Amino acid sequence: MTIQIERIQSDIENINSFTSTPGNGITRQTFSPEYQGATAYFVEELKKIGAEISICLAGNIRGRISGSDKDGPAIMMGSHLDSVAHGGQFDGVVGVVTALEAARIIVEDKISHRLPIDVVNFAEEEGSRFGRGLIGSSVWTGQMESSQLGSIKDNRGISYLEAMAQAGLIIDDTSRLISRDIRAMLEIHIEQGAVLENRGHRIGLVEAIAGIRQLNITIKGTADHAGTTPMKDRSDPLQAAARIIIAVDEIARKNGPNTVATVGRIACEPAQVNVIPGRVRFSIDVRDSNRTILDSAVTAINQTVKEICGKRGLVFEISQLSEAEPVALSKNIIDLLEEKAREIDLEPYRMISGAGHDTALVAGLTEAGMIFVPSRDGLSHCPQEYTRLEDIALGCKILSLQLSIH
Ligand SMILES: [Zn+2]
Repeated sequence: MTIQIERIQSDIENINSFTSTPGNGITRQTFSPEYQGATAYFVEELKKIGAEISICLAGNIRGRISGSDKDGPAIMMGSHLDSVAHGGQFDGVVGVVTALEAARIIVEDKISHRLPIDVVNFAEEEGSRFGRGLIGSSVWTGQMESSQLGSIKDNRGISYLEAMAQAGLIIDDTSRLISRDIRAMLEIHIEQGAVLENRGHRIGLVEAIAGIRQLNITIKGTADHAGTTPMKDRSDPLQAAARIIIAVDEIARKNGPNTVATVGRIACEPAQVNVIPGRVRFSIDVRDSNRTILDSAVTAINQTVKEICGKRGLVFEISQLSEAEPVALSKNIIDLLEEKAREIDLEPYRMISGAGHDTALVAGLTEAGMIFVPSRDGLSHCPQEYTRLEDIALGCKILSLQLSIH
């Protein structure tokens, strides 16, 4: 069983020749002409190995290599070909090309396998066109209704369904993914952090995908003259926000080893040099792989907002922007992947994924596992994103060793 590293490289290069921002990172919005170019390449490569292609719900693309048991549940593997604006060459692409290469090896080396092998490209993973991520996998797994796709629009007012039709994608398999039809889900992804690099590991095995709570905080005070209002008479919401932001960082550090919290967006009105702000709005993004621990951080944050605003007599509002529950991946699969990694003299690092992935949704239906490969300097979603081809090939090797046992 030989992985052809040049073939993986050529897949990555071919897919990334489709970008709407050449020379300035990869921009491949779902269903755009560039996306169509990349998916057409993916489909062509799958056809070369005799895969049966289906356009599934929400425009997810599946190539199936049947096994000796034609009606058995499938081993699914893959990732996504859409990108953020000015993103990198590896996010999503690595999972698709390694799945493709693993399938090629199974076919070319005539490795007998009982179960069907599905190579998939999930649609709109990043959410950079339609404003919310994981749409393809959400619809496919039944977490979101297909009927919603007519009202989800991009910033030019084109609906998801219209865009899909414009891209020439006609659904020929309208079935939802159900537990009975999938034996396992495997995804290789770039780490998008620097944990592997800092600890000197070439392969990460994901034990859980962090849950996310995103809050929006609005604090109202009184806009007033910066020169004539004495300090004791002020009702300044930005001063409260500053204290809350510091507290958010402290809460996350104390809450648990895997808790992370971020204030990434802040807007202040009227935003004038010589005016005390009247209103401040900011976001808080909190993540942890354990639901109880995650909820305890959110409770502590809510309490802090209440206390700090209360002390200053400020009116506040906390609204939830979005939430996703933590997802534990399959212990069986992680153990098997670890065993396969050790067979090729690698010591994988068990870790948590702080970013969401399609596999988190499929994990609700079947046993799922994810392999991480290192991101140089931890960078992703930017043109500097880089993962060594040798590490990608190692991930692919473990994937194909895992596949050959089914
Ligand atoms: Zn991704």
